[in-house]
Amino acid sequence: MSDSSTESLNFIEEIIENDLKTGKYSQIITRFPPEPNGYLHLGHASSICLNFGLTKTFPGYTNLRFDDTNPSTEETEYVDSIKEDIKWLGFEWKHEFYASDYFDMLYDFAVKLIKNNLAYVDDSTSEEIAIMKGSPVQPGTDSPYRTRSVEENLDLFSRMKAGEFADGSRTLRAKIDMKHTNMLMRDPVLYRIKKAHHHRTGDKWCIYPMYDFAHGQSDSIENISHSICTMEFIPHRELYDWLIEKLEIYPSHQYEFARRNVNYTVTSKRKLLQLVTDNYVESWDDPRMPTISGLRRRGYPPSAIRNFCERIGIGKRENLVDIGLLEFFVREDLNKSASRVMAVLEPIQLTISNYPSEQTELLPIENNPEDEASGQREVPFSNKLWIEREDFKEVMEKKWFRLAPGAMVRLKGAYIVKCTDFKKDIQGNISEIICEYIPESKSGSDTSGINVKGTIHWVSQIHAATAEVRLYDRLFKVENPAAEEGDFLDYINHDSLQIISKAYIEPSLLDAELGQAFQFIRKGYFVLDKNSNSDKLIFNRTVTLKDNWAKVQGK
Ligand code: ATP
Ligand code: MG
Repeated sequence: MSDSSTESLNFIEEIIENDLKTGKYSQIITRFPPEPNGYLHLGHASSICLNFGLTKTFPGYTNLRFDDTNPSTEETEYVDSIKEDIKWLGFEWKHEFYASDYFDMLYDFAVKLIKNNLAYVDDSTSEEIAIMKGSPVQPGTDSPYRTRSVEENLDLFSRMKAGEFADGSRTLRAKIDMKHTNMLMRDPVLYRIKKAHHHRTGDKWCIYPMYDFAHGQSDSIENISHSICTMEFIPHRELYDWLIEKLEIYPSHQYEFARRNVNYTVTSKRKLLQLVTDNYVESWDDPRMPTISGLRRRGYPPSAIRNFCERIGIGKRENLVDIGLLEFFVREDLNKSASRVMAVLEPIQLTISNYPSEQTELLPIENNPEDEASGQREVPFSNKLWIEREDFKEVMEKKWFRLAPGAMVRLKGAYIVKCTDFKKDIQGNISEIICEYIPESKSGSDTSGINVKGTIHWVSQIHAATAEVRLYDRLFKVENPAAEEGDFLDYINHDSLQIISKAYIEPSLLDAELGQAFQFIRKGYFVLDKNSNSDKLIFNRTVTLKDNWAKVQGK
């Protein structure tokens, strides 16, 4: 987390506050402009919270605009997922627009530039254009096609549109200055020929505007007052302003903030797509992915993601944000909302020798001590239970407050038991733990006078249901895989998924609903996976209970 984050959160807000005070604007209009070429990730969440957050704080509204000017990478599946993710994060857009809706207007803008002798058709190849661009220390050279007449340019441009020329054979370029210190101002390409099917306009167009000719103009068309993008677009601002001035259209303004990246993962749609297509993960919404849909499936509440984005704020310096901070907000949220239930992930049998074998009883257990309104439920108890293997030690040790021969422990919500014996199978593994229970020690009406330090969870064998439980670890072994030498895929953590095929869960979990959060007592927060069905329940671990963040914070 950067120390400048809270001050920097104000730098755009300050500008806006001032713009409203001086009467430059009576309301502000922002937009979130994703390219529909992948699923949204945590970096996008930061941009969404910023853009939509500003118009929650100040009068005005936010548009959702799909920046769909590249026909070959864009798909309707991505459009649908982006809309779902923004809504799930808790935001509403005023208008849903597509840059492709503006293709006719953009074409007219281009014609206007040509008529004003500010754009020309260039027959150079992309390699020739690149050579003529020069370098940051070397001025560029004029294209031999730069002096074409307005009439010839108008004719050629309309024939480009009509599909008379091959892909890549001609471009439309702005006529600015090949010696400009800003390379992007050296006659940037505005249109290219690409005979590709577009997800919305179909085959109507075979020329497509470049980012720089679509983005600012779309902002103008929508009267965007504050167009916020990431820092790599700083050099583009000059061109953004030049086009607005020459076209004499609504003067939107571009502001930049630093990209937010999170450690132990990658936030680039291209890299995330590779993880999916190369089968490193199951899908875009694999719970290990930093995508919004992955986090949703993992059980992260949208409010935790919003709090995280607000906390990291915005700044001008790029930095790697600790994923632990997001987990901190997830725990904080789930602690308040998740029902506490019992599930045994690595089971071993515990038999209570003095509890009648035909007897069962229903024990009331609080759903969530953090939330009185959540009430109680009844959990069945009997003489044969499942407990965690790790809660038993063959030999007693100092400071061990769980089970061992002679040791006493409380069974959560039930009785105190004392271990009297244990059994091993022929391989020598412990197969059963024998205990005696203390009848007067029942939770809520304990008159035993015995104090025990440890409480363990359990599930009654005859009442238990089963589930598959999936435990997740970081997807990468290093903090910043994209910055490491070689391929980012070399740094994949191949043990990021552990599947427990048969865990025992208390019967109330048979009624779990998709997206409902649970705390499996002592094991972490869990959520029902979307691939569950009535024959097979699958639970994803959202996050463990261990709270490193609070330690770091000294809480
Ligand atoms: P990617 O590299 O993942 O494809 P992008 O910037 O190309 O990201 P867009 O769909 O063009 O993705 O982004 C939509 C908006 O989200 C843009 O305004 C962009 O600046 C913002 N954005 C994308 N990634 C981040 C990030 N890591 N931090 C903050 N904002 C981001
Ligand atoms: Mg992009």
